[in-house]
Amino acid sequence: MNATVDQYLCIGCGVCVGLCPKVFRIGEDGKSGVCQPVTEETLSPVQEAIDSCPVTAISWLENDERT
Ligand code: SF4
Repeated sequence: MNATVDQYLCIGCGVCVGLCPKVFRIGEDGKSGVCQPVTEETLSPVQEAIDSCPVTAISWLENDERT
């Protein structure tokens, strides 16, 4: 399972990073990005970030290939 951040929608508010700093990181462009695959441990906070993002920029990636 992995998540993705729509760079066009993200306003860089940092809510997702606050909820799950292991997965989300604000890049040099001031937008959030996914820096690590979602694990069992981070599944719940990532879902919380998806639900909390003010511009609904985060979503689950479909057809994610596990390595
Ligand atoms: S919560 Fe949403 S808008 Fe805020 S930094 Fe994360 S992805 Fe961007």
